[in-house]
Amino acid sequence: MDRAKLTRNILIGMVAGFLLGSIIHFAEFSPDGMVSSVLVSGIFYVGGQVFIASLKLLVVPLVFVSLVCGAGNLAGNNNMGVIGLKTVGLYLLTTAAAIVMALGVANVLNPGLGINLAEGSSFVAKESPSLVQVIIDIFPSNPIKAMAEGNMLQIIVFAILLGIAMTRAGEHGTNLRASMARWNEVIMQLVLMLMQAAPVGVFCLMVTLFAKLGYGAISDLITYFVCVLLVLALHFTLTYSILIRVLVGVNPLTFYRRMLPVMAFGFSTSSSGATLPVTLETVEKRLGVDKGVGSFVIPLGATINMDGTAIMQGVATVFIAQVYGVDLTAGQLLMVVLTATLASIGTAAVPGVGLITLALVLQQAGLPVEGVALIIGVDRFLDMVRTMVNVTGDATVATIVAHREGQLDHDVYGDPEADHGGDLEDAHPTGASA
Ligand code: ASP
Repeated sequence: MDRAKLTRNILIGMVAGFLLGSIIHFAEFSPDGMVSSVLVSGIFYVGGQVFIASLKLLVVPLVFVSLVCGAGNLAGNNNMGVIGLKTVGLYLLTTAAAIVMALGVANVLNPGLGINLAEGSSFVAKESPSLVQVIIDIFPSNPIKAMAEGNMLQIIVFAILLGIAMTRAGEHGTNLRASMARWNEVIMQLVLMLMQAAPVGVFCLMVTLFAKLGYGAISDLITYFVCVLLVLALHFTLTYSILIRVLVGVNPLTFYRRMLPVMAFGFSTSSSGATLPVTLETVEKRLGVDKGVGSFVIPLGATINMDGTAIMQGVATVFIAQVYGVDLTAGQLLMVVLTATLASIGTAAVPGVGLITLALVLQQAGLPVEGVALIIGVDRFLDMVRTMVNVTGDATVATIVAHREGQLDHDVYGDPEADHGGDLEDAHPTGASA
């Protein structure tokens, strides 16, 4: 199936799933009836979970192989330090900007004024890791264990070190890098194969999600809900388009158009990790980011860069403070910016983890962690939207870094063909080779 058809079918699957799921939700079928038990909790649920599993299946091998290749290429060209610094710097900056915006808007809209505290009383806070532990946990003591457990930060550290070591190991290293590049090609082929099932998978996921989504909770928390969505929308449309316009000098609309499948995946899976294969493929083949840069910047971003999550955490902190009648001082606000930036690094790229690391932010700001209970009801939907922002942020930084390093193929970016069709495989032949 060509790219344009696949993108269109994914979007159709998403919208159709949303509509059918919402209809089922509002029709209030009996939980034991045919529609709920056989369709929603049966066929569609299984279809969605199999699809998610097949995406997750790719994440560990993809991040590992892709980063070994990426780090090896960059270290081999001696520009790893610069690219690494630019990448991490941009990730941190965009995340910090996102929280500052979230705090600003939340302080104007005051989402927590007039909310009844009693709703959160039955909540038992999940334990969130301490800041010190988050830092220690980045470094692996056993790479196989890290892979088995899907500990992405540890896999990243190991892959980068291995990639660098390969460039220093003479002929043996060169041979290994060449094999890794071949592995990379094979895994990307696997991505393309599994993508063919995406329209159906996305449809199943959306039906199940929206059939079960608690719309009622939204009306109780409408100001909080709108506030998070508003900041997500501002960051998504303003920050990223300004960055692309100013730092890359190209039309941001093209960027958003090419990113449609990635956004649809982020939205329907609520997982930056599960979306990673599509993000990687899209930045390289449709935006023209060099494979060496993309395979380094994107897996890193899927793991450490979560602007959308940070936005939710910023608004949630102000909301919870207001509900508990706490006036946040400038010092506390600064603490929120710092900890939410770090928390976004420690947030695993799977659904719902942003809520757990929110506990860390609240703790550091001296707010009651039980406050998380107040927003759980609406978080499922917000997770979908913030994940879409998370993955778009990764691609924005990849495009900027590639351009600044002279590794953005402007012919691909400006080529309307990269938009409408052409087989994925031959859209942009790049060499991840050593
Ligand atoms: N679902 C988000 C992601 O994967 C993380 C979160 O905010 O819960 O990017």
